[in-house]
Amino acid sequence: MSAVTSPASPLKVIGNEPIVHKKPPVDPATLEYRNLRSGEFWRKIPAYAEVGEAQFLDHAWQAKHSITRVDKLLAALQGLVTPEFVKDAEEGFKRAPMSVRVSPYMLSLIDWSDPYRDPLRIQFVPVASRLLADHPKLDLDSLHEQADAPVPGLTHRYPDKALFLPLDTCPVYCRFCTRSYAVGVDTEEVEKVQLKVSDERWKRAYEYIASRPELEDIVISGGDVYQLRATQIEEIGNALLDMPNVRRMRFATKGPAVMPQKILTDDAWTDALTRVVERGRKLHKEVVLHTHFNHPNEITEITQRAMSKLMERGLFVRNQSVLQRDVNDSPETMTRLVKRLGHVNVHPYYVYVHDLVRGVEDLRTSVDTALHIEKHVRGSTAGFNTPTFVVDAPGGGGKRDAHSYEYYDRETGISVYTAPSVKPGQHFMYFDPLHQLSTAAQRRWADPAEQEVMMQMALGKARERAR
Ligand SMILES: *Cc1c(COP(=O)(O)O)cnc(C)c1O
Ligand code: SF4
Repeated sequence: MSAVTSPASPLKVIGNEPIVHKKPPVDPATLEYRNLRSGEFWRKIPAYAEVGEAQFLDHAWQAKHSITRVDKLLAALQGLVTPEFVKDAEEGFKRAPMSVRVSPYMLSLIDWSDPYRDPLRIQFVPVASRLLADHPKLDLDSLHEQADAPVPGLTHRYPDKALFLPLDTCPVYCRFCTRSYAVGVDTEEVEKVQLKVSDERWKRAYEYIASRPELEDIVISGGDVYQLRATQIEEIGNALLDMPNVRRMRFATKGPAVMPQKILTDDAWTDALTRVVERGRKLHKEVVLHTHFNHPNEITEITQRAMSKLMERGLFVRNQSVLQRDVNDSPETMTRLVKRLGHVNVHPYYVYVHDLVRGVEDLRTSVDTALHIEKHVRGSTAGFNTPTFVVDAPGGGGKRDAHSYEYYDRETGISVYTAPSVKPGQHFMYFDPLHQLSTAAQRRWADPAEQEVMMQMALGKARERAR
């Protein structure tokens, strides 16, 4: 009774009591993901020392000054790196199956005082001294995108969705590209499949999509939709929105990660995309942007401005990363990436275990590494911002949750997946990189007869289990 009426009521006392912290205070370093790089960081690069902010934010300047020749790239690095590094990179490009294209923005984000360890350098500039021999079971179009293509540049693998590749150029060329069979120009190592912009080819793709009532979801990729003109973005978007069967589409671009300037200053392009999204919304059809950040260093204050602009326009952005050795293959880096993506309103969607691609064995990691990292990432933030770790099953099985293998032998590095809704009855094998296996296992992989034994063993075990 007195407790209620007295001025020193228990309610007040409780309010004045210090809060009891059940969780220990966080180490401020774990909040570092919020500190985005800002300022005129590009001026450290001699070639951009005189470039002001307005110029650096100009997408046309970025595109025009993107470097597409090895000698020019190496020339831009003169004075920043040692002659040994230049030689190493020169030799690396000679052996790489990818074309070269690096934006000034990307180049400026690389720490050239420590180029061997820089996670962005690793993705864009090959060095011969770090290259490793390919896995014996690797072939160039390991995902069989061409085998599942009814029309060149249109892959129909899954029941209700298709992948449309309207063109074969990108704002940058990544070493790890899954589509190195098509993307970019021919290199010393590889002659590519041609997927040029072509009205005729695009019309055939539209006809096919319209003729298949089960197709509801179209991924528009490439190459990269950053390279499409504004009018082409609208043409493709509207052609697909006009089809009653199409309910969802995604425009896929690496662009925001390598040239966020375009979203800020290419008004025609950004407005065209916005109009497609808005028209879609009125038709109750989802149109979103998919992008591809791999490392927290790729997200700067410029990125944040670009993503905020899309947020204000109601554009939803999802991210797909590729797990790469020495780039993002640690729980700390991947968690920081996921948190930083969330911080700029990009939703982490997938992390891919690196595809079996030629010439980048040094970048691959094992399924075991993916599972280990996933365990640490999950729980660190909202579930809807937690990416699914997937293996894109070689041979056309499609994306499988990395955990869902029928069998996984960490000793031989063979994992076996099934895809009952995609290719029922088939088994798909993924192969961990040899450099992560024991010396004994590596020796077995050197012998073709032993390779067969290991694979048959894994398949046999998987067949026993599969349901
Ligand atoms: C990745 C992909 C898709 C889209 O798959 P989601 O799991 O829905 O993101 C569609 N078609 C092909 C061929 C693909 O590789
Ligand atoms: S931007 Fe995408 S398609 Fe182009 S090279 Fe990089 S990974 Fe490949």
